[in-house]
Amino acid sequence: MVADGLAELHTHLGGSVASDIMWSLAHEQGIALPTRDYWEFDRMVTVSDPRGVPDLDSLDRIYHLTELIQSSPLAVERSVHAAIGGAYRSQQITTLELRFNPMKRNRGGERDLDHIILAAIRGLDRASLEYPQVRAGLILMMDRTFSADQNMVVVEKAIRYAARGIVGVDIAGPRPGGDRYHYTQIREHVDLARDAGLGVTIHVGEEGGVHGVEEVAEVVEALRPDRIGHGILAARDPELMSAIRSSDITLEICPTSNLLTKALADEEAVREVFRTFVEHGVPFTIATDGPEMMRTHLRDELELLHRIGALDDDELRAANERGHEASFVTRRAHAPV
Ligand SMILES: [Zn+2]
Repeated sequence: MVADGLAELHTHLGGSVASDIMWSLAHEQGIALPTRDYWEFDRMVTVSDPRGVPDLDSLDRIYHLTELIQSSPLAVERSVHAAIGGAYRSQQITTLELRFNPMKRNRGGERDLDHIILAAIRGLDRASLEYPQVRAGLILMMDRTFSADQNMVVVEKAIRYAARGIVGVDIAGPRPGGDRYHYTQIREHVDLARDAGLGVTIHVGEEGGVHGVEEVAEVVEALRPDRIGHGILAARDPELMSAIRSSDITLEICPTSNLLTKALADEEAVREVFRTFVEHGVPFTIATDGPEMMRTHLRDELELLHRIGALDDDELRAANERGHEASFVTRRAHAPV
């Protein structure tokens, strides 16, 4: 299908580290876990039910546990290193971007944020020495539950460490009160990041019905990101698809994740979304959202899309190519230091 190295642009550090490594990290740090049985732990840190999770809040609870375990410089370094090496050894992923929120890994301010970020960079550097074939970078995430000031701290850190391997910014997290999120409140954050040469990707259009479509439109217009995490709801709106195409925004689509969170009801819905995007010339790439947590691999995603008739061989190759091209790591290589 795709013989060359793969590009994975959308994977969360909290969902990218194998359960056995997370288990050891938890024990090394003396973290009190809710279970003493490894297999029960494995079910707790992954979406273990093939029927998925009832909603995104349930997914968030899984992230809470993995983020707790990754809340130290040691654990962050080991996690980044393991995720990059694992992706290359298991899937031959040669372009990889890992995203995480450093402020969800400093135990509410107990650990120093710069130490956490520099530990992630050290994990990246070690992996780069061991796997020189891989171009990897880190994306720092803001959060929809954070205040504007908190999110600004994340952006400032991303800018400070841009020369060291932080390649972009993102935002995700639950919507406060479950309401529509107003993305205009992070316009200044995004502008600052872009002006500093960082890539911008935004989680939006994964769920949320009518509001979800409005949110995508707002993001395209107000934030002008390089990429959008998910964005599948745009398939409902031809005008929006045309805006995405003319703004040259690449969607990062995570099929298994969308099925497990019920963002897409079934494989037929996945197929329809992809056919619609192909028809309307919307650029996209394929990702896992976190292979360990979602119990998938990037090559499984490509196979799934092929099997259900969502994409043919050429389209799969094009989506992978697009991933290499749309990576913020590429941009960093060409940017003046
Ligand atoms: Zn995501």
